[in-house]
Order: sequence, then C-alpha cells, then structure tokens
Amino acid sequence: MTKKAFASQGDLEEKTITFTQLGEGLYAFTTEGDPNTGIIIGDDEVMVIDTQATPVMAKKVLSHIREVTDKPVKYVVLSHYHAVRVLGAVAYQPEQIIASAKTHALIHERGQEDWDSEYGRFPRLFQSADSIPGLTWPSLTFTDKMTVYLGKRRVEIMHLGRAHTAGDTVVWVPDSGIMFSGDTVEYRSACYCGDAHFNDWPETIGLLKSFNPQALVPGRGDALTTPDMVSEAIHLTQSFLTDTYTPVAAAAAKGWSLKDAFSACRDVCDPKYSTMRFMNIVCRSMWLGPTMSQTELTIRVSGLLSVTRICGRHCSSNTQLSSAYSLKERKADVAGEDRRKVD
Ligand SMILES: [Zn+2]
Repeated sequence: MTKKAFASQGDLEEKTITFTQLGEGLYAFTTEGDPNTGIIIGDDEVMVIDTQATPVMAKKVLSHIREVTDKPVKYVVLSHYHAVRVLGAVAYQPEQIIASAKTHALIHERGQEDWDSEYGRFPRLFQSADSIPGLTWPSLTFTDKMTVYLGKRRVEIMHLGRAHTAGDTVVWVPDSGIMFSGDTVEYRSACYCGDAHFNDWPETIGLLKSFNPQALVPGRGDALTTPDMVSEAIHLTQSFLTDTYTPVAAAAAKGWSLKDAFSACRDVCDPKYSTMRFMNIVCRSMWLGPTMSQTELTIRVSGLLSVTRICGRHCSSNTQLSSAYSLKERKADVAGEDRRKVD
C-alpha cells in the first residue's frame, strides 16, 4: 500500500486556550476542540479531570490553575483511556490517579496501541512527546461509582454505562450542579466512534441528563455554561450517534456491503451535519484527500467508523466489536480497503 501522510500531521497550528470558570472553584481548560481538562478546587486540594497528552502540555493547564489557587493537585481522574487524555498525568504529581476498572482494563488491552496511533495522527497534541514517562496507570479504580471529599466538597465519580468507550467516567459536583462528561458528551464536534458502543451511548447520555446539569465541561468543545448549552450539546451528540447508527444497522440487516452501508450513512448525515462546525478529532484522525474539505471528511470518516463497527457487530458472533475489529483493520477500512463483508 502506498504510504500516505495523515492530514493531521500537518495540523500544527496552536489553538487558543480558554480557561472558563463555571462555578465556585470549578474551571474548564478548553482549546478550540482539542481535548479539554476540568478542574475542581476543594478546601485544601485540587482534582483534575483528564490531563492532556504530554506532561509539557499539562504544565499549560497547571499554569492556569496556579493563577487561581496554590493548592496541590491531589487527584487526577481519567474520563477514559485515550492517550490524548491521560499521558500528561505525571505533571500534576497527584497522590492518586482514579479511573474506572474498565478503563484500567483498556489501558492494559490497548493503551500502548492507542498511544502509538494517536501520536502518529496528532502531532500538535503531543508537544514534547519525549516528556511522557510511559503509560499512565490508575492507582484507584471503581466499578460503578466512588465518592471523593475535597474537604467539605463532595465529588461523585461515576461510570454510568458504556458510551465513547467501554469505561467512560463522568464527574459530578452536587454542590454546584456541574458535570464533567469526558467524551460522553461533546460540543459541536464529531464524536470519535472507533471504540464506541452505539447501542449503549444514548442511554448513558440519558442517565447523565437525569442529573440536570446546570453547566457541563464536555470532552471537546467550549465549556457549556448554561442549561441551554448543555441541552444543545446533549441533543447534538445523541442525534449524531442515532443518525450514524440507524442507517447502517438497517443496511447491515439487509446484508449490504460495507461500502453500500457507508453510502446509506452519508445519505442521512451529510445534509444534517455538513454545515456544523465540527472541530477536528475525526478529521484529523484519518486520511485527508487533497480535495476533500475538513467537514466532508469528518462526516465521511466518522460515518465509516460507524459503519465498520455496526457492520462488524452484525456479522460477528462476538457482540463486542472492539475485540472483533482491531484498530489496524479499522484503519485499513477507512483507507479504502473493504476487507470485511457483511455476509
Ligand atoms: Zn476519546
């Protein structure tokens, strides 16, 4: 196969950092659609949710934290296992790194593979990659929920169900009604679906919604500072998932080829999402044709990832596509090699 460059490899432009206060001692570090970091300040310590991809990049977050508090970062919470979220953890010098048991298992299973893959695709997100000491391993895990007290401040750390990955974790601050969602909710950003559980994700979002968040820090995109913005992000994320899953599931049930299923997906998604300001993750994650716009590619690749996952589920006796379909195979599919037939 001819070696192609990833479009994202040329995407080195620095993004504008925004440090938004959502409530008393609650902040969001956002960067125009790159992975977000959340901050919770308690009586004597700080909790950070998602770390950035490298320790050097995490220090940018720390410099903003130091503008508002000199308390130590005691806890780092990993919303999920993806490398761009977790590999900067050491910079905070936390006492504990918290993740769900399923996220811990995913780090074991494919943490290195994901690191290698994301490093190749997102050079901008891996500034000073040589500062990464190795995989980030949680020191505390939980199955469904754990409670951490930052002094008087109670923080609920929960795995509400499978969504963007099998181990997604959200963080809820009851005293302020503020949620940190990881990539379970994204704002105006096409969701990466390579590890997704399409059937579970909308229901997991529904559970998150039942907390009635007054503000929310999504995995990507701007901090959502009002209930209306939270509702919009939840609606957009759920719609995108439904619109990718439904046509492909129907095509797979009819025994269509992967390529035909992909076309069916695009028929639904292109008209609805082509005008949206999709940020980047899917665009940057795969091949970029020289004449293809970022928006078109976002839909195309996200749709194709969905197609491969959904078709794979239908054609495999293993209901967990993650084990039926390796990252390598999925990349080959996206690169145009239709190596898996629905029949
Ligand atoms: Zn992710």
